[in-house]
Amino acid sequence: MSRFFSSKLSALVPYTPGEQPKDMKYIKLNTNESPYPPSKGVVEASKKEAGKLRLYCDPTCASLHASIAELCGVDKCQVLATNGSDEILNFAFMAFSDKDNPIVFPDITYGFYPVFAELNGIPYEKIPLKDDFTIDVNDYIGINKNIVIANPNAPTGICLGLDDIEKIVSSNPNNVIIIDEAYVDFGAKSAIPLIKKYDNLIVTRTFSKSYSLAGARLGFGVACAELINDMNTIKYSTNPYNVNRMTQAAGAAAIKDNDYYMSNCQSIISAREYTAAALEALGFTVLDSSANFLFAKSDKIGGEELYLKLKSRGILIRHFTSERIKEFNRITVGTQEQMQALIGEIKAILEV
Ligand code: PMP
Repeated sequence: MSRFFSSKLSALVPYTPGEQPKDMKYIKLNTNESPYPPSKGVVEASKKEAGKLRLYCDPTCASLHASIAELCGVDKCQVLATNGSDEILNFAFMAFSDKDNPIVFPDITYGFYPVFAELNGIPYEKIPLKDDFTIDVNDYIGINKNIVIANPNAPTGICLGLDDIEKIVSSNPNNVIIIDEAYVDFGAKSAIPLIKKYDNLIVTRTFSKSYSLAGARLGFGVACAELINDMNTIKYSTNPYNVNRMTQAAGAAAIKDNDYYMSNCQSIISAREYTAAALEALGFTVLDSSANFLFAKSDKIGGEELYLKLKSRGILIRHFTSERIKEFNRITVGTQEQMQALIGEIKAILEV
């Protein structure tokens, strides 16, 4: 740390992204990317924009917002596109939480939430998941604090039903509830229809997973126009050109090719079911996932050991060191072939 680093940030522990190693070719099952390439339409649309990179992009993201609004069945004034959904999450933390308006989230969830809170000087509280890693909805009813919940949750993959989400939103009318739907296309029900009814709900989404665009950095938020306006104030006070030209075009083209992406999601869901059953047959405990990953632990090998052994065999999965989940690993669901390779290697490691 330099002697110039702001004292208010000196205790900040930044988020650690998943490994992106270059030392060898891995079957990469560690950062929940799609195993499928972007559609041809997306590649063509991005190439076309590449020739125009001399010019700034549209700061209003007009065309992209119109496409997202149509996809989600909302008005374009209820949409804000951002540089990955990490950015809309940060905007939402910045805009609606502060030292007098704390935020709560589960103890086991997306590791960026406490970082956004620390970065913005927001007090936060972690509410423990139940022993089976599900959320106890009663913990959030009428809590009178801002809330962020990933649905499906990460890294567990477990989802809440829309009824439960609505109970949380309706019982905290004076607080902002953020539902992070990064993985919703793999099996959960979206809360977007609820934004017509509730002015305190923000739903965030990403193109990084189901739309094969992790490297393009595109996410968005859907909420009532007033909440979107407030987050626009943050956007125009930090980086008005937050979604670059190629990414804006890629996002709109991806929505045109929605059928391709939704069919990829179905393939991922099938591969997930195959993998969950195969892991269970090998004695693993596998949480019930509605996402493009599985959270699993073995009764025969520790979490870290399995992660390291698979890595040495060319398969990367994600291991977390926090006490409650250190025997688990998060395994991104790839193609059926990749998952068969994974199961083959696990069998070899366990010598079964
Ligand atoms: N929310 C959750 C729950 C995630 O796991 C991720 C992926 N790291 C994100 C949001 C952010 O994804 P992105 O910024 O790529 O949209």
